[in-house]
Amino acid sequence: MDDKTLTCDVLIVGGGPAGLSVASTLPDDVKTVIVHQDKAIGLPIRTSGGCWLSDIERLGIPEGMYNPLLTNEAFADDAHTVLPLQDAVPAILDTPRVYQWLASLSDQKDRTLLLDTKFITTRQRNDGLYESDIRVRDGALERVVSRYIVDGSGWHFAVLDALGLAQKPERLAIGTEYEYPIATNAPNRGLIFVGSKVPAGYGWAFATARDTLRVGVGVIQPDTDQSPRKLLDRVVNDEAYLARLGLELVGEPIVHSGILPSVPYDERLVFGHVIRVGDSANFATPTVGEGIRVSIEFGRLLGEKLGAAVKTGRDGPLKAYERACRRRMKRNYKWGFLVNTRAARYTPENWNASIRRMGKVGPEVVVATFRGEFPLHKVAKMSWSLWRALLRSRIRRLKTKLGLS
Ligand SMILES: Cc1cc2nc3c(=O)[nH]c(=O)nc-3n(C[C@H](O)[C@H](O)[C@H](O)COP(=O)(O)OP(=O)(O)OC[C@H]3O[C@@H](n4cnc5c(N)ncnc54)[C@H](O)[C@@H]3O)c2cc1C
Repeated sequence: MDDKTLTCDVLIVGGGPAGLSVASTLPDDVKTVIVHQDKAIGLPIRTSGGCWLSDIERLGIPEGMYNPLLTNEAFADDAHTVLPLQDAVPAILDTPRVYQWLASLSDQKDRTLLLDTKFITTRQRNDGLYESDIRVRDGALERVVSRYIVDGSGWHFAVLDALGLAQKPERLAIGTEYEYPIATNAPNRGLIFVGSKVPAGYGWAFATARDTLRVGVGVIQPDTDQSPRKLLDRVVNDEAYLARLGLELVGEPIVHSGILPSVPYDERLVFGHVIRVGDSANFATPTVGEGIRVSIEFGRLLGEKLGAAVKTGRDGPLKAYERACRRRMKRNYKWGFLVNTRAARYTPENWNASIRRMGKVGPEVVVATFRGEFPLHKVAKMSWSLWRALLRSRIRRLKTKLGLS
């Protein structure tokens, strides 16, 4: 082996929440290399960081790294509702800090973190090991030889694509976000907006833990060919609309943008010694594209199972990871994807009706939809709540027509 080659048990491609979480639960003596193409962990920001307080606590994310949202609203062209979320409190993660904390969880392990380093391609040698080409800015290393590779490269599908194991996603959610000083905006308020301002997508605004206000727009391409940046510019330059949303934008914003796959869940996660996790495994919820908590939770699980596979040489633990993901995601994401593709075709009138309904159907339905969780008993309850809301509005309309109210 020459001095341009690094050998290890596990190569992790991508230092996002998924890849970092895998590293954090691998046994201390499993030799791991993480290659991450950005110069720093968590920067530039490519995500909004929306999560839920209950998950933040469950995952052990330290205080001060998130901002709870105590008032949550939804706006359509002619409808507005305060979202009934009851005990479910959304919160915005300070993602650069959270991701750096995730990285610190494997600092004491036999781990090499290569920043500003890009995975280019890989091939399997006759001895079964993977030889991967990497590009490091200072040019010191050129190759990593490993027994296992984890694809945590997000929507890039870098490893899967290089080995021809899975198709790069063609349907993508693309988002742009502007970050302003908080100014007079409420420090614990969040909102979403839908309708004619954001065809085939939705917009959001919320206060962060860093005393800022972030306003963003995400659309699904190719469902629309509109650019999220142009749509967002239209929103932030429309004073009347901002006044309706109750937002004050001050100063020059910092711009963030990001991409995530918006395709059906694919239950195949393990390809021999190549395993996918996070966005490269379509883990973000199809309803609102929330992938951080899922990537952390199942990234940690993969780290444990992969550790067992490295130690025993058996593939069983990896299959257990695949099964656990399937149990959690397959059915939920099937329902979620139905909601996603339906909503992508919504007209402004459909959105008006949908936002009005959200105010009436009760917290269970709203929270389940936002979280992308549809167990059978909830689906039954949701159908009943939706029918009841629909029936009530029909009766109201009939009464008005008959002059009875
Ligand atoms: C606009 C937008 C808003 C979002 N909002 C939310 C939200 O509010 N809440 C939420 O939970 N989720 C949100 N998401 C989704 C969430 O960001 C992702 O689900 C999550 O980041 C997935 O983590 P990951 O580690 O799989 O991938 P990523 O976070 O994408 O990390 C993968 C990393 O791998 C690196 N990489 C890629 N290719 C290579 C390569 N060849 N070599 C080396 N490194 C490579 C990338 O630079 C990247 O940093 C949003 C996404 C977008 C785009």
